[in-house]
Amino acid sequence: MTASPQVLLQHHLKQLRLPTFYKEYDKLAKQCAAEGVDHPRYLLRLAELELLDRERRTTERRIHAARFPAVKSFDTFDFVAIPSLNKMLVMELARCEFINRRENVIALGNSGTGKTHAALALGLSACQRGHAVGFITAAQLVHQLMEARDEKRLIRFQAQLANYKLLIIDELGYVPLSLTGAELLFDVFSQRYERGSTMVTSNLPFEEWTSIFGSERLTGALLDRLTHHVHILEFNGDSYRLKQSRARKRGKSAEAQLQAAEQIATADPNTGEITDI
Ligand code: ADP
Ligand code: MG
Repeated sequence: MTASPQVLLQHHLKQLRLPTFYKEYDKLAKQCAAEGVDHPRYLLRLAELELLDRERRTTERRIHAARFPAVKSFDTFDFVAIPSLNKMLVMELARCEFINRRENVIALGNSGTGKTHAALALGLSACQRGHAVGFITAAQLVHQLMEARDEKRLIRFQAQLANYKLLIIDELGYVPLSLTGAELLFDVFSQRYERGSTMVTSNLPFEEWTSIFGSERLTGALLDRLTHHVHILEFNGDSYRLKQSRARKRGKSAEAQLQAAEQIATADPNTGEITDI
């Protein structure tokens, strides 16, 4: 018994990795017949559908591989809320040409001012434009570097990091690093220098980065590399979260609590993320 042409076609198209061809050929054939579209145009439409779908699938895979903690875009970012941020520059960066030029981005500012949101949005934009992106917090990265070193697979892990065209290191500065941690992180910056783009977000101004890395010499060498080709995004302002909570909650005691929280957030950025009030 011979298989029906449909079964064979399904098999062959699967082998050829053309799932959209298989999914759409019948419906599109009927449509083209009804419209009097000729064979080459029918095949062209089918090929275009496959290409579009393939692009979408690749982008989805890239987004998944980037390990974003959340998918956020500039569509939901309110630039009016943060006047210190240079919107023109951000929109220019969102076109991702800086990645082709292997330039870096540093986002500085208090907790809750939208640094992570902007980093996620830039990362998403990079994925959509075909770049391999990695997103990780500084603490996680150091943890993974130490683990890789202990398990004698540091070189492999470093090679993996080098594959990212854009590596986003979020929240540098919330946790002071051990000497080894600082050195391992320094190596990452050093290896990426002029080879790939790095984006860093931090609640600490550069003057205070020595407190993260422990050593002035290491911090100096790191800043030298990181800031050679860099775009700096300034997030100076009040926490977006606190402002939103304030708008939501009208009670007097809630207002007082928020004021206290805001004081802590602005007085001592080392206290960390204020996530839930
Ligand atoms: P940071 O990383 O600077 O601490 P986040 O990016 O985590 O701040 O922002 C805190 C929350 O507020 C997030 O849910 C984020 O989406 C939202 N947010 C912050 N700034 C803005 C903004 N300008 N427009 C829209 N949402 C914002
Ligand atoms: Mg953040």
